[in-house]
Amino acid sequence: MSDEGLTRAQVEIVKQLTADVERLTAWVADLQSGMYVNCVYCGHRYGPGETTPVSMADALKAHIAQCPEHPMSGLLAAAREFDRLSLVIESSVRHDCGPSRPDHEAVVAAIKATRAAIAKAVQK
Ligand SMILES: [Zn+2]
Repeated sequence: MSDEGLTRAQVEIVKQLTADVERLTAWVADLQSGMYVNCVYCGHRYGPGETTPVSMADALKAHIAQCPEHPMSGLLAAAREFDRLSLVIESSVRHDCGPSRPDHEAVVAAIKATRAAIAKAVQK
């Protein structure tokens, strides 16, 4: 994280909050390590006997991304399809005849912003 533009006090607050998030995330992982975690859409279960090297939350997240019953898998597929189509649309707008138009630039900017938001969401 860039500290640019923040006061020293604000930087200290961000550091403290970041440390709190890391501590609490580890705590949740510890609490979930002795539990079963289920996908509420298909019932797939991960249990404390799993030998996965990731947290239960990460195991469930990986399952949800590919679960045919969970809406997240459909959203991810739609995001990938939008990503593919956006390249076609952006290319089409850029190769339109005539001088560059402000509305074309707005379309390209909107496509890029949406693609960046999708890429960020998919990485989570
Ligand atoms: Zn599932």
